[in-house]
Amino acid sequence: MGTDRGRDVLVDALPAAVRHGLTFCRAIYHTGPLGEVVPVEGGLDAGLPDITVHPDLATLAPLPWEPGVAWCLGRTTDPSTGRPCPESPREVLHGVTERLAGLGLTAVVGPELEYFLCEPDPAAPSGWRPYAAAPGNVYVAGRRGDPDGHLLRTLRLLAGLGIGATMGNHEFSGGQFEINLTHSEAVDAADRAFRFKAAVKELARAEGRLATFMAKPFNSEGGSGFHLHVSCLDGDGHNVLADPGAPDGLSATARHAVGGVLRHAQALAALLNPTVNSYKRFGPDTLAPWLIDWGLDNRSAMVRIPPERAGSTRLEVRLGDAGANPYLAVAGLVAALALGVEEAVEPPAPLEGYGYDATKAPVLPGSLGAALDALEADTALCEALGKGFTSAFLAFKRAELERFSRHVTDWEFREYGYHL
Ligand code: GLU
Ligand code: MG
Ligand code: MG
Repeated sequence: MGTDRGRDVLVDALPAAVRHGLTFCRAIYHTGPLGEVVPVEGGLDAGLPDITVHPDLATLAPLPWEPGVAWCLGRTTDPSTGRPCPESPREVLHGVTERLAGLGLTAVVGPELEYFLCEPDPAAPSGWRPYAAAPGNVYVAGRRGDPDGHLLRTLRLLAGLGIGATMGNHEFSGGQFEINLTHSEAVDAADRAFRFKAAVKELARAEGRLATFMAKPFNSEGGSGFHLHVSCLDGDGHNVLADPGAPDGLSATARHAVGGVLRHAQALAALLNPTVNSYKRFGPDTLAPWLIDWGLDNRSAMVRIPPERAGSTRLEVRLGDAGANPYLAVAGLVAALALGVEEAVEPPAPLEGYGYDATKAPVLPGSLGAALDALEADTALCEALGKGFTSAFLAFKRAELERFSRHVTDWEFREYGYHL
């Protein structure tokens, strides 16, 4: 799911934890929609075996809001083999970056995340309403759309965490914000996006609020995207997506990268749009994508090529929603890019103008089930991510879908309960 799980370690115990790793039980339970406990497949029936997490001290960072406490990410291994756990999302990302390195390339990723800040509302069905909801708030500065300075306070605290959160703005919907992270190599960018989400949620919790990155939390408001800017460097640090001699300034590698992302988009949706709720964000005129298309500086397309060129030539992949696990979203993207470059996949002509005309391009999957089927059918992408991961992911997500499809929702009662 991409949420943070960990253990608190006293500083005295840290050297031993670094030497031996920390143990966790391998399968964590889900909480189902009714609060019921649902064991992960291969969990209790396998006796809940250990996994070992080795702290990665390069990621150790003091928490500005919790003096004396630092956070650290880890690498997950299976103690019976001593090898990395194939289903660990961070390991999956390491694997695909190695595949790209085999082509002599390094992906550079810049994440942008949108989220809603919510306040308790006993009258709302979910118990939460958007903070300071007011219409037409995109880019309003200062206290107009943010009466108690949430954005500024959050940016200041994030600056002390050193995760490269450079700027933020009010988004289109009431209570919705976007924060941009600087670009860096793919694993580091995913680490920072992961910590960013955990930090924003933690800061909101401390104020009795909820920061949610779910794709489409409210019927009356737009969704939250996880746009990923991606470029690609050769061994000399040159951006191989740029070609000043080409009419659009894009190299053959850039076209192939776009071709790979478009070819694998149906399957990528399973990773970048991994919840039942994700598919309620897509749609015409939403600024979220709906079709599998690309365009030059066109925000109605799934892949936008921002106008900067030379060293800043990049793709902005707008497919992901903020609820995605950053490691899996970035891994899927890097894998699709590598496949596009390996197979020299030519994309169709870029979209011009309005990007929501379904006569011009294929439509994205309409549901999580359709995206999971597309992932399973995309053998090249599954192989790039690792079969150990994809089989676990498909089982885990299909169990989620099964629980959802059996759950009777409020909408059903309103639609049918009174009339039938
Ligand atoms: N909220 C839109 C999305 O879901 C993106 C709006 C924007 O372009 O910033 O992707
Ligand atoms: Mg935005
Ligand atoms: Mg963007």
